[in-house]
Amino acid sequence: MMTYWGGVEAGGTKFVCAVGTGPEDLMAKTSFDTGTPEETLPRVIDFFRSQRRRSGELKAVGVGSFGPVDLRKDSPTFGYITTTPKEDWVNTDFAGAIERGLGVPVNFDTDVNAAALAEHRWGAARELHTFIYLTVGTGIGGGGMINGRPAHGLLHPEMGHILIPHDFTEDPFSGVCPYHGDCLEGLASGPAIRKRWGAGGDELAGDHPAWVLQAKYLALGLVNFICTISPQRIIMGGGVMHRKQLFPMIREKVLASLGGYIKAGEILDDIEGYIVPPLLGDEAGVLGGIALAMQISR
Ligand code: ZN
Repeated sequence: MMTYWGGVEAGGTKFVCAVGTGPEDLMAKTSFDTGTPEETLPRVIDFFRSQRRRSGELKAVGVGSFGPVDLRKDSPTFGYITTTPKEDWVNTDFAGAIERGLGVPVNFDTDVNAAALAEHRWGAARELHTFIYLTVGTGIGGGGMINGRPAHGLLHPEMGHILIPHDFTEDPFSGVCPYHGDCLEGLASGPAIRKRWGAGGDELAGDHPAWVLQAKYLALGLVNFICTISPQRIIMGGGVMHRKQLFPMIREKVLASLGGYIKAGEILDDIEGYIVPPLLGDEAGVLGGIALAMQISR
């Protein structure tokens, strides 16, 4: 009988579910808008039940979720979404609901750690032990691996909420983060672009001044991550990064801001190979769920 794993990419606006064994073998995939947990979690469970009827043994499910989430294995609320600004989802037992609904083990991590795991297994971070996966979209989130292990700590990194220099003369916009105003996410997420310029990133022309500011803020963020985590590579995904002209602009500003201080050929001689889009593209997220599932059951 065929064996496969289930992956869930749980985003604040969209859920993607798939079954398979890797990027060459995504046997089924579905996506739907994120509703309330009462609407959304049964749809996830129904999808995997229908796949199970069709085709063999589902070994485990991995969930890469928007957050914040509780990842402490000894916590009574492990696998919960905790203090999210999405009110319907506050204190939701996500992993537990899927586990009870399907009767298979469930692995759970942040959406960005999951995507990072997929890029490590199949994509742009193969052979690396320390790297960052940053997503720039509805929010800004960062995860990755440190010394070959997913970046967990007291809770999990919140790379989108770092504070960066903000010149109010150049950019009087006060930011959209409900907690910090002008943190990185507050200044450079998709909603920040929309609120500052009155149009979404997908509607702005390629030479709009928005992109210069966008590249500056993201580069400042990356410089801080480079100096603190010393990643071997930085992968940047998410809807805003679909605007590919951002990559060269960000690379140039990162090099300028580092000022030649970090003496690594990977940065100084090959910045195009250092700051890269996900090799798995928009499937990094759901493949991350499958990679998480494979971690707990072979
Ligand atoms: Zn913030």
